[in-house]
Amino acid sequence: MRVAWTADGGTWHLVFRLDPEDGVTGFCADGQPLKLATNTFRAELPRAPRDIHPDLLALAAWTVIAPWTRRRVTFDRPISPELAEAIGDGWGVQAGPTGLTGTRARSGGRLAISYSGGADSVAVAAMLPDAPFVHFQRVSHSRVPNRWTHYRSDVLASLAEKTGRELTVVRSDLEFTLAEPRPGYPEHHAVAVGALLMADELDLGGLAFGYELGSRWLGGARYIHRYTPDNPMWAPHGAWGRVFAAAGLHIVLPVGGVSEAVTMRLALGSELRGQLRWCLRGVGGPCGTCGKCLYKELIQAAVERRPLRTTITEGRPVARKWQRPPPYGGQEMIEYGCARVPGIEDTVFAAAARYLRATESSTAWLDRCYPPAVAEIPEPWRKQVHDFVDGEIGFMSESEARRVETWGAA
Ligand SMILES: [Zn+2]
Repeated sequence: MRVAWTADGGTWHLVFRLDPEDGVTGFCADGQPLKLATNTFRAELPRAPRDIHPDLLALAAWTVIAPWTRRRVTFDRPISPELAEAIGDGWGVQAGPTGLTGTRARSGGRLAISYSGGADSVAVAAMLPDAPFVHFQRVSHSRVPNRWTHYRSDVLASLAEKTGRELTVVRSDLEFTLAEPRPGYPEHHAVAVGALLMADELDLGGLAFGYELGSRWLGGARYIHRYTPDNPMWAPHGAWGRVFAAAGLHIVLPVGGVSEAVTMRLALGSELRGQLRWCLRGVGGPCGTCGKCLYKELIQAAVERRPLRTTITEGRPVARKWQRPPPYGGQEMIEYGCARVPGIEDTVFAAAARYLRATESSTAWLDRCYPPAVAEIPEPWRKQVHDFVDGEIGFMSESEARRVETWGAA
C-alpha cells in the first residue's frame, strides 16, 4: 500500500494505491469482511492547522487503509520508529519510511472527546466537563453516489454546535471508501481522523471514546460475544491501543467499565440531554422506527421504569431478531431491559424475555463499574474518571466482576 496526502488550505486529500499483494476485500479488526469502493477520501478541517506531525498523518491514513494492507505500507513522509514498530507488531505489516535522521515520536497534553451526540458520548461528556469535543460529520464523496441521503449527519453536527462546548467539526467522505457491507468506517478508529489531523493544533495527548462495557469487555455488537480482555480494537495493549499511543494520542475509554444502562442514566441526567441523539435518521427527533431506536428505547424504558413506547410491531424487519433465540448483539442490555420494563410480555421483546429469563438481581451487575476498566485509563486522566465513578456509579463487587469475566463462557 502506498499513501499520499495533499493539502488545499484546511482540506486534506488522501490517495492510496494498492500493491500487487493487496486485495479489494479485507477485514476490519473485528473480523467483518470489507469491500473497497474507491481509493481516495478527504478531511475538511475547520482551519489550516499550524503543523501536523507525520505520525498523525500516517495513523489517520492507517485507520482507513489497514483492512486492505497485507505486507507493507509506504507513507509519503518519514514516520517515527515507534509508529513503524507498532504497525509491525500489531499487523505484521512493514511500515515506513522511518528516515535517515529519524522522526521523533510526538506527544500532547489535553484530552478531547470523540463526540457523536449519542448516550455513550454524552455520558463521557458528563464525566469530563472541561474536555473539548471533536465531531466527525459524514459528507458525500465526489466519486461515489450517495444512496444514504436519509443519514442526517448535518442534524447531528448542528446538535453538537448547540452544546456550548469547545467544538471542532471535521467533515469527511472517508466512509464512502467502503462499498460493502455499506458506507461506514473501514476501522472503528476512522472516526478519529479529524482528531488525529487536529491533534497538534489542539495539543491533544488523548482521545476519549464512548465505547462502553459491552464493546470493550463483552465482545458486543458484531464482535464475538465473549469476555475480551485483549480486545484488539480497544485494549491499551491491543494493536490499535498501541498504535494510537505511539502517535502520542492515547485511546481513553471513560465509560469502558459501565453498561449502556449507566450511560443512558448519565445522559438523561446531563445538561446536554436536550442535544442527545442516537439516531441518524430523524430530523426533529429520533425516527422511532429503526433498529437502533428500538434497542435504545428498551434501555431508556428500563432506566425510567416505564412501559415501552414504540409503534414497531413483531412483523417488522427490525423486530425480527427478537423473535428468535439468543445470542443477541448487546445481549446484556436485552436481559437488563427485559428484567425491568413493565409489561415486556406484551411487546416485541416478549419472545426474547422468555428465552433469557433475566431478573433484576441477575442483571444488577450492569448498574455498576468493572474496576479494571478504570485501572487501564492512562494516568493523567485516571483519577478524574475514578472519582466520578466512585461518586456517581459505584464499583462492581468481586462476584459481579466475575459476571463480566465469565460472559459467553457457558
Ligand atoms: Zn431511529
